[in-house]
Amino acid sequence: MQIEQIILSLQPNRKSYMRVFNNFNAIKETLTSINEEEATIGFVPTMGALHEGHLSLIKTAYAENDYVIVSIFINPTQFNNREDFDAYPRTVDQDLKLLEQFDNNVLTFIPLVEDIYPNGIVSQHFDYGGIENQMEGKFRPGHFDGVGTVLTSFFTLLKPNNAYFGEKDFQQLQIVKKLVQIQKFDVNIIGCPILREASGLAMSSRNKRLSDSQLQESRLIFKVLKYVKEHFGTKNDNELLQEVQNAFKNNSELTLEYFEIADESTLRPLQKIENNKKYRAFIAAFAGEVRLIDNIALN
Ligand code: AMP
Repeated sequence: MQIEQIILSLQPNRKSYMRVFNNFNAIKETLTSINEEEATIGFVPTMGALHEGHLSLIKTAYAENDYVIVSIFINPTQFNNREDFDAYPRTVDQDLKLLEQFDNNVLTFIPLVEDIYPNGIVSQHFDYGGIENQMEGKFRPGHFDGVGTVLTSFFTLLKPNNAYFGEKDFQQLQIVKKLVQIQKFDVNIIGCPILREASGLAMSSRNKRLSDSQLQESRLIFKVLKYVKEHFGTKNDNELLQEVQNAFKNNSELTLEYFEIADESTLRPLQKIENNKKYRAFIAAFAGEVRLIDNIALN
């Protein structure tokens, strides 16, 4: 008996599936069998160039579901900037190697553009109740329409029970929760903590594009966030904003795009601290052409 069959015989409820599916037709039959088993599916959407941050989402999904589907798809409609889309790291071979550490219950789905956009590459427009107009929405027009469109396709095709998103993209996490309400998808949205490099820099596929000196200087982002957390509630927010702006002005590699302290649920900028509310500080900054974002819970 082959090892895989032995393992399967010990886990009679789990079938073995081929791991990588290059289009929706290929995964369809497997989805049908999984549904017949009444097994649960955890979904982890990614744009590839996988790192430990992605892997932590997959591990959480694996612990909480019978099967996990990891998608790799660089979604054109969520890029408001063609150069950023073109320069986005594409490392599928490496990604598949990394995913080999998981067993056959972790399925990789690499859809075709036609699977996700059968009627051409256009975004649907969503009214997320205003959260789409803050921060990322303000600086990346159309971005959250693209996110809503691609996830609408994925949720409709794959029908996962649970879907996992990183708090690294905290505004996106809130947008996805809203999308699920609007579209009435039967899926739980689960937020996962931010994984960081030893330097404190939030892990990101875009970090692969940084030069050594940009990488070195990018640690400022988390340093500043930690400073703001330390002084939140004691220094007033204008003073903090000034200090953050100065820290970036004095940095040779980074340009601040925005710094904001916002209410976690509305994502509106802080007016006055209220006891029963949760706040986060958010930063977007450029290191050369590379746009980096990060955030931290303040209370
Ligand atoms: P991306 O491939 O950048 O679209 O990210 C796919 C998912 O991984 C999103 O839900 C991200 O929020 C999440 N993610 C990316 N970087 C990190 C990180 N450093 N820690 C935790 N989750 C992350």
